[in-house]
Amino acid sequence: MTSEKPIDLPAPGLGDEYFMREAISLARAAECLGEVPVGAVVVLDGRIVGRGFNSPIGEHDPTAHAEIAALRDAARNLGNYRLPGCELYVTLEPCAMCAGAIMHARISRVIYGARDPKTGVHGSVVDLFGVERLNHHASVAGGILADECSAMLSAFFAGRRRKAQ
Ligand SMILES: [Zn+2]
Repeated sequence: MTSEKPIDLPAPGLGDEYFMREAISLARAAECLGEVPVGAVVVLDGRIVGRGFNSPIGEHDPTAHAEIAALRDAARNLGNYRLPGCELYVTLEPCAMCAGAIMHARISRVIYGARDPKTGVHGSVVDLFGVERLNHHASVAGGILADECSAMLSAFFAGRRRKAQ
């Protein structure tokens, strides 16, 4: 059955950059569809078991964030609504909705790229992952390939501003 105890995991290593690059390529897929470029993968034992990208506009779905899509994909692939032992890589600091989903899924570790000063809940706006009464599962590491992740977002918004003029 699922373990309720946090799992000891190694410090960020080379693997983190590899999987973040996968998340970045999914973010680029979102960008091609005119969505804000955010991508995510779920990894279990060094293998990608779920992929997702941001698609709220195309899906007419305010919940269609990259993390939610990747969690749904992983849960379907693994045949389990809980994902203990899984790691979630996402190019942008999670929002409150996604942090909730990450906790419900029992994700063991979250690795994100750029900070999100507007909606990030790993300390940028609030620190939901730091609230022990809420979160007994996920350890969180930020700043993996952060420059690349935030440059992608900046370029996207700059392009959109240009089009709006
Ligand atoms: Zn979110």
